[in-house]
Amino acid sequence: MFKKKPRARPHNLRDAAKPLDDFDRLARKRLGLPPPEKLVNPSRRRWLPPLLLLLLIACLISYGVFRQRKHSAALPPPRTLTVAFLDVGQGDSTLIQTPSGKNILLDTGPPPAAGPLFAELERRGVTRLDMLIISHPDRDHDGNCLAILRRLPTATVVDSGFVKGSPTQMAMLAEIKRQNIPFVNVTQQRLAGTSQDLGDGVMLTYLAPDAYSPTVSSPDVNNSSIILKIALGRVSVLFMGDAEGPERATLLASGQDVQATILKVAHHGSQNGTDDTFLARVHPEVAVISCGLNSYGHPNPVTLDALRRAGANIWRTDLQGTIKLQTDGRTYQVGLSPK
Ligand SMILES: [Zn+2]
Repeated sequence: MFKKKPRARPHNLRDAAKPLDDFDRLARKRLGLPPPEKLVNPSRRRWLPPLLLLLLIACLISYGVFRQRKHSAALPPPRTLTVAFLDVGQGDSTLIQTPSGKNILLDTGPPPAAGPLFAELERRGVTRLDMLIISHPDRDHDGNCLAILRRLPTATVVDSGFVKGSPTQMAMLAEIKRQNIPFVNVTQQRLAGTSQDLGDGVMLTYLAPDAYSPTVSSPDVNNSSIILKIALGRVSVLFMGDAEGPERATLLASGQDVQATILKVAHHGSQNGTDDTFLARVHPEVAVISCGLNSYGHPNPVTLDALRRAGANIWRTDLQGTIKLQTDGRTYQVGLSPK
């Protein structure tokens, strides 16, 4: 009995094509034609060069875009730090504006200066504060802090930690709590000797008050002032608050670097605001005194003489109005700020 042998199933298309190949070879032999070229998909070969060319173009475009992006990302922002010593009469208020637009207000002046203060802030495009720093809770420094907190969204408030318990200070603390604003206490958090990067190469360094300084064990509002330095590159500004002899001595004893290009003279240029020893360590090129009409004799001639002996170029808000410092970290300009 004839048994039909099951036909082997081809394993793949190549096997399936084999009979056709055999037929083709036999036909070519009979017709005297040359054998076919080795089977290579001719369409694939034809597309290969344009495909490679397209790949090359795509690579070049991607590389160009990447280079362009890298180049624009590497472009440095305009690196100008501006410090405006605002004319707030007999008191202190300084606006620090970093190259990328951070606004830091150090002190707010006395209550009568509220009008000029807000006009100055508006003129400088300040609609919010990244930091409000109160050097110490005396009215010529914290007098407008409540108004500031109510009018300008404020990201952080920095306080010396000295508890005066004045109505102004209590109102400020209540407002901070009400708005749930992050609050920094330089003394409690032992920030003296630490630095904060404000971006764009601008560094803020707290120098005082120190929780373990003699000035804090026998508390005194002026001698618990926040002393800080703002620096960009080679140019720096040392802010002294209303520190007098005791806090100054503690600062020098701490061994911290007090050298600065510009000195914001302590305590409105009072007699106890600076001395030769201190000025020899700071070695300022410029001294700024913030004061107004007053009965305290600020600035004191003794202090002015000491500053002249130290070779500092003296600027005064009571005589010249708001004073503006601009620096790129290498050079700086100090001048008057037109109103
Ligand atoms: Zn003061």
